Amino acid sequence: MIVGVPREIKEDEYRVGLLPVGAEELTAGGHTVLIESGAGSGSGLLDADYSAVGATVVDHAVEVWSKADLVVKVKEPQPAEWSMMRAGQVVFTYFHFAAEEALTRAVIDRQITAIAYETITDTQGHLPLLTPMSEVAGRMSIQQGAKFLERPQEGRGILLAGVPGVAPAEVAVLGGGIVGSNAAKVAAGLGANVRILDINLDRLRYLDDIMPPNVTTLYSDRHTIRESIGRADLVIGAILIAGARAPRLVTKDDLTRMKPGSVIVDVAIDQGGCFETSKPTTHRHPTYVVDDVVHYCVTNMPGAVGRTSTYALCNVTLPYALKLANQGWRSVAEQSPGIAQGINVVAGRVTNRAVAETFGLPY
Ligand code: NAD
Repeated sequence: MIVGVPREIKEDEYRVGLLPVGAEELTAGGHTVLIESGAGSGSGLLDADYSAVGATVVDHAVEVWSKADLVVKVKEPQPAEWSMMRAGQVVFTYFHFAAEEALTRAVIDRQITAIAYETITDTQGHLPLLTPMSEVAGRMSIQQGAKFLERPQEGRGILLAGVPGVAPAEVAVLGGGIVGSNAAKVAAGLGANVRILDINLDRLRYLDDIMPPNVTTLYSDRHTIRESIGRADLVIGAILIAGARAPRLVTKDDLTRMKPGSVIVDVAIDQGGCFETSKPTTHRHPTYVVDDVVHYCVTNMPGAVGRTSTYALCNVTLPYALKLANQGWRSVAEQSPGIAQGINVVAGRVTNRAVAETFGLPY
């Protein structure tokens, strides 16, 4: 099979869909790997790293798209890529169809088979190809929050760790899932006082067991949320209700309880955000201020740390890419219901109920 890896062209996207080790495993399995020149450069990977393990480096994306039976990438195909998709081709990447009708219709028109990272499930029903990006975003949220607490960035001028004789910062984390627990771990490691709020008591029991003593777990309700954001220097939004828009747990009025110069990092912005005042921002213009509170609402946080994110993503996607190349998607889907969940469109027909219902398409 010919496996193609185009360079990502979405703005501020520095990841690549395949590591050199993946190219080596695919070529060792008898497959041909075509990779667009420069595809790995945002992650510090050279064309020579790929050619050294048997991949063929080509100059233009069209050479990848026109020849590949299986395209492995990171972000949903961009409009400039739609016309290059070929009928019968399998494309394995993040699609997030429900967020973009034009993309959905383009994929239907072009008759490809779309296997979406974000809907593949494991035997526990988790989403294994989303988890590493939540880990990256959770850890990064504290790094970003710490930066924007600095006075020149309009923050309160607080060092998260404090110093001997000066109290550390107060951090409130709304949601104790993957993002929230990773944020709490990093904030606690820096020495901040951390509160994690969640509505899942079993999750809070688990976090209470594994977190260091400077992390307190709290049941999330209107009162604990209001009290916690009032004490906090940094608030992380890390809520998820699967398949739904994030609930707006903090209203604009609630901001008056927050300290001037405190910082919100709303990681849940990709699901609409859990603060009423959140609106999507980019890495180039990551923050804005509402009622003296700095808001950071970047929708693709992992993209900024391309190298870490590429390794974290490819560690989990490669076993699936190998299976798809070695056995073909039909046989893989028959054997693995979790991978079958990832198949969203087959030859012009939507096979994911949620996507079909979102746009009133036949299913
Ligand atoms: P998760 O399912 O692991 O965790 C979500 C947690 O929210 C769960 O523990 C759940 O019990 C809790 N929760 C639900 N309602 C709550 C409430 N009212 N109060 C308190 N807690 C509540 O999800 P995750 O992987 O941690 O992802 C969190 C969000 O981060 C998602 O929206 C995800 O899409 C987003 N995300 C964004 C980026 C980015 O670049 N901005 C990157 C990765 C993930």
